[in-house]
Amino acid sequence: MPDSQPSTGEEGTTTTVITATTHLTLPAHPIPLTYDELNPRSKPEEFFGPIGTFGITLLAPLFTYIFFYTCNDAVGCTPTTVSGWKYAWSLVGNFPSSAGYLWEWKAFAVYLGWYAYCIVCWKLLPGDVIKGNLLRDGTRKNYKMNGLYTLILTLGLSVGILLNPGGIELFTWLYDHWVPLVSSSLAMATFQALWIYGYSYYNGELLALGGNSGNFIYDFFMGRPLNPHPPLFPSFDIKTFNEVRPGMILWLLLNISCACEQYLRLGTITDSMWVVLIFEGWYTVDCLIQEHTILNQMDITTDGFGFMLSMGDLTWVPFTYGLQARFLAFNPVHMGPIYTSIVVAITLVGNYIFRQANNEKGNFRAGKNPKNLEYMTTERGTKLLTSGWWGRSRHPNYFGDWLMALGWCLPTGFSTPLTYYYIVYFVILLVHRQIRDDEACRHKYGKDWDKYCEKVPYKIIPYIYASHSICDDRSIWVRASEVWMIGVEGMMRSENLSVHRS
Ligand code: NDP
Repeated sequence: MPDSQPSTGEEGTTTTVITATTHLTLPAHPIPLTYDELNPRSKPEEFFGPIGTFGITLLAPLFTYIFFYTCNDAVGCTPTTVSGWKYAWSLVGNFPSSAGYLWEWKAFAVYLGWYAYCIVCWKLLPGDVIKGNLLRDGTRKNYKMNGLYTLILTLGLSVGILLNPGGIELFTWLYDHWVPLVSSSLAMATFQALWIYGYSYYNGELLALGGNSGNFIYDFFMGRPLNPHPPLFPSFDIKTFNEVRPGMILWLLLNISCACEQYLRLGTITDSMWVVLIFEGWYTVDCLIQEHTILNQMDITTDGFGFMLSMGDLTWVPFTYGLQARFLAFNPVHMGPIYTSIVVAITLVGNYIFRQANNEKGNFRAGKNPKNLEYMTTERGTKLLTSGWWGRSRHPNYFGDWLMALGWCLPTGFSTPLTYYYIVYFVILLVHRQIRDDEACRHKYGKDWDKYCEKVPYKIIPYIYASHSICDDRSIWVRASEVWMIGVEGMMRSENLSVHRS
């Protein structure tokens, strides 16, 4: 909220000093900036530019298929000989069961039905409407938060199916149509990214600062529009909807389907499958309980909606995060009490750090400090925690997330490295994210961030790998802060004008 302090100037005119803090509550921009001022050209520099984004656009979907064809009950997991790889290759498009068909119209219809069901739940189920962060055009969006109710209804329906005769067999349909479902979700993700890219040229919407380079390959991947919605439905925000509903909840259903498959094969569910089911399931439940917190995440505040997010949310999350459970369905692992206790302990410690760190910051940002933690005040007006978890490292929540990710991989044992892809990928993802966030904070807080880095030198893992300096090159964050300041200064100017006039 800007603090306005009227004072009498030399000539008896009234001037207004406005102190802008992070969480500005301002009216819609009274002197709108032009479209070009609001949406400056981006430099195509993230992810190694157009070549890098082109590579990820091809490789990420490809890996989703590779994970299936190199890890299934026909070839085992993962081939270690040339003939094994040749055999895996021969199964592409020629798999002995519908689980490996590249395309199936029935699976596509089911996938469309699933997506439509999620939309109907969003529309009909009750939920709080929450205002999003202030956008740089001076507006805020409203978001209906009822993902948790969608999950509860879906789980209720699933339990109903499972308790009915033949329900367990029915639930394995997802496991039995894995690749056709991957292809269906990919078709949806590609369609959304292409359509939204094209539509953003016509509807004059606010663009993401990182996705407006003019290079099709780059912008298609990074995402041109910041908050796209379908024509005539401005209240349906495609980005937040995709972020936690059709993909995250499908991941949980796929895991349940894998557990059913294991049950049909073994007559029981192994301890390893239970651990994966419970802890990965809890991650989805927790995410939907805290659904409103996604509004402060980089994906929502900064990234555009393009193939990176459509494919990531709809295909990558459910089908690659589901690898551990799918592996256990055809390759059961019996952990025993000691190994189970170790895995559970690692996951619980990770969950504790993740939750404590996120709660400490969440409470603090909401103006509460129940643990009386130390903090420093910045020139920008915002405070930064310097004790508790945020005094131990600059991203303690990422550390907790890593421990949990490790806890999800360990139940698969040590017969294949493939099921550990998730921890490797997650380390890369969060290190890259930490670099982007540190850079953003450096530009948000200036010298104060350096002081904070002096006090809290550890990047992610407490007391390991200290760094006081961070990357300071000119990136989208510099431009983000510049354009942000243009918007805020414009608003301040107009507020001053209106005070002068009165
Ligand atoms: P964070 O929740 O770590 O938020 C970073 C922001 O917190 C900074 O920009 C700054 O914003 C604020 N901040 C930084 N230091 C302090 C401090 N000392 N005191 C108070 N505020 C501070 O980042 P993310 O949005 O990346 O992550 C959110 C969660 O989502 C994490 O737990 C992460 O692990 C998880 N995640 C999970 C993924 C998955 O696929 N499973 C993918 C990505 C993230 P400001 O000062 O403006 O408030």
